Amino acid sequence: MNIIPFNKPYLTGKETVYIQEAVSAGKISGDGVFTAKCHQFFQNRYGFKKVLLTTSCTDALEMAAILINIQPGDEVIIPSYTFVSTVNAFVLRGAKIVFADSYAWHPNIDATKIEALITPRTKAIVPVHYAGAACDMDLIMAIAGKHGLFVVEDAAQAIDSYYTGADGVRRPLGSIGHLAAFSFHETKNIISGEGGMLVINDERFIERAEIIREKGTNRSQFFRGEVDKYGWVDIGSSFLPSDIIAAFLYAQLENLDRIQKRRAFLWQQYQKHLEPMKSYFTLPVLPAYATENAHMFYIVCNSLEERTALINNCKKQHIHPVFHYLSLHKSPYFHHRHDGRDLPNCDRFSDCLLRLPMYYELEGDDQLRITNALSSIGELQPVQ
Ligand SMILES: *Cc1c(COP(=O)(O)O)cnc(C)c1O
Repeated sequence: MNIIPFNKPYLTGKETVYIQEAVSAGKISGDGVFTAKCHQFFQNRYGFKKVLLTTSCTDALEMAAILINIQPGDEVIIPSYTFVSTVNAFVLRGAKIVFADSYAWHPNIDATKIEALITPRTKAIVPVHYAGAACDMDLIMAIAGKHGLFVVEDAAQAIDSYYTGADGVRRPLGSIGHLAAFSFHETKNIISGEGGMLVINDERFIERAEIIREKGTNRSQFFRGEVDKYGWVDIGSSFLPSDIIAAFLYAQLENLDRIQKRRAFLWQQYQKHLEPMKSYFTLPVLPAYATENAHMFYIVCNSLEERTALINNCKKQHIHPVFHYLSLHKSPYFHHRHDGRDLPNCDRFSDCLLRLPMYYELEGDDQLRITNALSSIGELQPVQ
């Protein structure tokens, strides 16, 4: 029996061709020809005002925290059920993290409970579009507007996904908050190994974002001929990727529609084959304002014990579904810093959510093996 991994990076075949081109062109540091092509692609396709490739989504989030000028003691509202990078970026600037709970029916931040967490020190809200499904952005932007807060979208999983607001306009995720961060890590839909992107929707941040990304220098302005010397003008770090990474990414972007189509098909197959199992575990629920970008197919078991039994049964059949996100408010680093509020929905997703193998080259037969293994849940003894 072949092993069915959780993830397998998909290569279009053009990656090494473009990398060769980038190397031959002799400019392999950042902001070369392929970086410009990637920037153009995103600005054209999604209407993002300004994008900057970064070395990771983690880096893009760190840039966002610097750009909105987080100071020690500033409070930032973030869901507890997320990846550490969403939070670390703000912790690094001395922020006080105020963790929010998820909805009972979806891992996304429960937007109806955000306002109760706001204090005079609150500076930002960081919604995470879990599994590429939009958060309630109308409500979040309205709360932010009322209280003068910044919104940084963690759109790491949200490429090619949309939000339809009350005005009926369909907007790409990442285009709604003041800033947004995407990931091209090998586990995401579109990849470059490691890689990310900062989206700047509020023009006030554009000039400073370029500076922060280039070690705190105005090098970008210098190369555009806007200044005749470049020097140290602000804080910053090295957030820009080599053009070799951008060359890899560009090969993927050219095939974005094909990749998305295949993933959507696999997602629908899971939905179809697991629908009859709905009394044993719940399937993903998509709010009417959101779209499905087939980043992830997950199920939510009824208990930790049932999930463990299911994982063990899958492993026996060489199938590797995975769970993730131990609620960050209970993490070894944070638990003694947390204010003690219970976040029961986050905890439930930590205990019960299971992500199924999802990758471009997942074969139909293998997918059937997975759904069959899950369908055996009725006969499994929960592990106590
Ligand atoms: C993957 C991911 C990140 C981190 O992305 P990197 O590119 O690996 O830094 C951050 N937030 C969320 C929600 C993610 O899924």
